[in-house]
Amino acid sequence: MNSPQVDADVIIAGSGPTGAMLAAELRPHGVRVLVVEKETAPKSSVRIVGLHIRTLELMATRGLLDPILEHGRRRPAAGFFAAIPKPAPENLDSPYAYIVGIQQPVIERLLADHATGLGAEIRRGQAVTGFQQDDDGVTVELTGGQRLRARYLVGCDGARSTVRKLLGVGFPGEPSRNDTLMGEMEAAAPPEEIAATIAGLGDRHQRFWLRQIGGVYSVVVPAAEVADRTEPPTLDDFKERLRALIGTDFGVHSPRWLSRFGDATRLAEHYRVGRVLLAGDAAHIHPPIGGQGLNLGVQDAVNLGWKLAGQIAGWAPDGLLDTYHAERHPVAAAVLDNTRAQMELSRPEPGPQAVRRLLTELMDIDEVNRRLVEKITAIDIRYDFGPGPDLLGRRLPDVGLKEGSLFGVLRPGRGLLLDRTGGLTPGGRSGRVDHLADPTAALDVPAVLLRPDGHVAWIGDDQRDLDVHLARWFG
Ligand SMILES: Cc1cc2nc3c(=O)[nH]c(=O)nc-3n(C[C@H](O)[C@H](O)[C@H](O)COP(=O)(O)OP(=O)(O)OC[C@H]3O[C@@H](n4cnc5c(N)ncnc54)[C@H](O)[C@@H]3O)c2cc1C
Repeated sequence: MNSPQVDADVIIAGSGPTGAMLAAELRPHGVRVLVVEKETAPKSSVRIVGLHIRTLELMATRGLLDPILEHGRRRPAAGFFAAIPKPAPENLDSPYAYIVGIQQPVIERLLADHATGLGAEIRRGQAVTGFQQDDDGVTVELTGGQRLRARYLVGCDGARSTVRKLLGVGFPGEPSRNDTLMGEMEAAAPPEEIAATIAGLGDRHQRFWLRQIGGVYSVVVPAAEVADRTEPPTLDDFKERLRALIGTDFGVHSPRWLSRFGDATRLAEHYRVGRVLLAGDAAHIHPPIGGQGLNLGVQDAVNLGWKLAGQIAGWAPDGLLDTYHAERHPVAAAVLDNTRAQMELSRPEPGPQAVRRLLTELMDIDEVNRRLVEKITAIDIRYDFGPGPDLLGRRLPDVGLKEGSLFGVLRPGRGLLLDRTGGLTPGGRSGRVDHLADPTAALDVPAVLLRPDGHVAWIGDDQRDLDVHLARWFG
């Protein structure tokens, strides 16, 4: 695997959740990974993000669920769609049928530590500023003029992705209609006074958010119109908005950080151009409603990691790397659509509010509620692997095994032949596909072949048919 002529097999731009997860997914294959991160220090915000069922399942298979539960807060699975306060259906097919709220910098640190623990290098304070690709690799330019050579470059550099822009990939969609200011700061007013003022606001309270976490207030307010949306907001902007909405600014001071985000919805036209790929917010953006962005990016990384590793190791079948775009682009398009729908349902006008009331009523029908919850939590994803039973292309739920359960035996980066017949074999691909012969496995089919991302790539009992599918996915 070592390629002495390159500085790394893969350079990843950005050590946000997507970049760190991708680095960790590549390492078990021996891929030399260098993550370059523009910021010198990790983020220090207290913003809480929600991790949904499919992400929690993947974290369980990567041994990360325990630290996440230790640092996060488990909440009941309710209010997934457009914050309509309905509990999720009871028998969702997952041991992790809940949401974990965790501070974004904490999940980023856990993922970065996981990646470096597996041998990835993260270099801070260096941004990707340019690159040129040729037949053999990519020359990546960093701030300060340094040039590094890699076989592949992956842009995990967020919504304003430099890599995507330099690649010239289109990012069509809708521009932001409403901007929001978000920041963290201290307040001079006592907490009781703030709580009493907010309680007295009634419905107007829904237009902003002020929440104390660890002595610091997380403040979210609708932004005023500005000429230049790329200009960072100031503390005075927050004070002005608070006074306009509530009549007081609570004496906010000492900001930790201040930011502006919009509700733009955009999807990159291509996730791969030659040796350069895009993942996470660099490839798709949408309003935060439903809390899906980070989840989507982490799942991009799990889809891409083993394919890129196979390409670098030389065993990837023709076209395997292109399945990354083919599979993940439609998934992001569906998430963008569900956030568009959620945004419409959250508008204050009578029309959208009437539709919201109607949907709220329909969600009393278990199947309707289930469909929406499965969408948001990404357990509904079915990749198009061609004709076959409904399970083909879906993630296999955590089925019971003779010893333990599936999520306990899935190894990062390796496929799994789960075989109730005991008569099948992954053949010469034993380093890439584990074989578990277990007549007690709680499957209602003889055997399944799982890809490293846990999706069902084959169902059956015939070795020759299995061989065809092993070759399709594992070379
Ligand atoms: C208010 C709000 C609430 C949210 N809530 C949720 C939620 O509940 N659940 C959820 O799943 N998602 C949520 N999200 C979305 C989530 O924060 C993002 O989707 C997620 O951070 C995307 O991760 P990423 O790694 O793709 O990009 P980012 O987190 O943006 O990371 C990109 C990294 O690349 C670095 N970088 C940028 N340019 C360069 C360069 N040229 N070279 C090197 N490095 C570079 C940046 O410094 C950054 O560290 C929310 C977002 C907002 C704004």
